[in-house]
Amino acid sequence: MTFTDNRQERRERAMLEPLRAMIRAEQQARFGSAEGLQPFALDLRLEVDPHADWSVSFVDSLGEQLARQLATLQAQRDSYVPGRVYCYACRSSHCEHAMPSSTLDVFTGYSESGRPIWHQFHQALLDLGHQEVHQLYSDRPNSIAVVMDGESLHARTLVGNGKHSQTFVVLSQILMGYFRLRGSTGELEKLALTIQCVASRDHLNQLENHINVLVEPEHRILVSEQLPWLSESIRLAATQTRTARADANAIVRKLASDLVRQQKRTLRTTKHAQHRRPQRPIEKALSDVASANSERVFYDVKSDAFAVRGKSGRCHIFNQQGRHVTSFSIEFDAVQSRLRRKRWRPVTDQQFQTLRAQIAEVNPITK
Ligand SMILES: [Zn+2]
Repeated sequence: MTFTDNRQERRERAMLEPLRAMIRAEQQARFGSAEGLQPFALDLRLEVDPHADWSVSFVDSLGEQLARQLATLQAQRDSYVPGRVYCYACRSSHCEHAMPSSTLDVFTGYSESGRPIWHQFHQALLDLGHQEVHQLYSDRPNSIAVVMDGESLHARTLVGNGKHSQTFVVLSQILMGYFRLRGSTGELEKLALTIQCVASRDHLNQLENHINVLVEPEHRILVSEQLPWLSESIRLAATQTRTARADANAIVRKLASDLVRQQKRTLRTTKHAQHRRPQRPIEKALSDVASANSERVFYDVKSDAFAVRGKSGRCHIFNQQGRHVTSFSIEFDAVQSRLRRKRWRPVTDQQFQTLRAQIAEVNPITK
């Protein structure tokens, strides 16, 4: 290394030091903690005039250049969040518009201002002119899946509010429902899903494709537990979308037909399984009730029923008349959370004795 190289390096370091301080201050003032921040690239533009004694100035002030680029980078970081869709109006995927507000809601496109629009699944199907909506409500309900292309989802949006966005684009999506999931108290819940193929920028500003299921965290867990075939198909499609010349529309159409086929198969298997098992397994529930005390029994405000905590993390729900509704396993954390949120309330000894008497009455086996 020569003497000149050393001098040049020292000069560069001296120039970078104030720049470093300025970038850090700007980023922290606007977006707070740098926790989890990946390395990123900035482009600064200078104007040099050889005829004015080689004067050097920033094209737009340095502060403006930094502010603009840091804001863009932050929006890109926020753009892809699993379970959520990007909101151009708020420039974030963390606002209230980014997630369905009920298990029946699906994403049907962007408003003029770039805000995500949600509709109940059956309404979305009607708006799309779907002919088979009644199938959702027949005695033997079928699932319906429709594919929507990205252009139609972005059609209403005005330029500048997300149209032709370089940050986040929905390439194609599936609306599908209804799925039936067993909630934490054992009741069956209807769920409609929006499954999207989206392109967003990663921290090096490269476009990246994802398959994203729009669903809030609680149901996300239930989906992965109770619909493992769905998670598996989505994982496969996600791998395909990452290949260099992936055709998002083709992948999403194929995913939709896969899901419908697998859903049919699952429904068939479930029906067979139910057929083979005519009796409900309440013996464990009743023996847990027999050995319970009032400290293991709670009133569940949400379902107006009683929860009895049994052995090995079992939990049994009995309605007000003492009938066994369902059993499931529950973790210690989930119990604590229900108590904290006051969804479960303690019962008095008196209430416990009454419940036990009622359970004994409708289930003579305990006598
Ligand atoms: Zn928003």
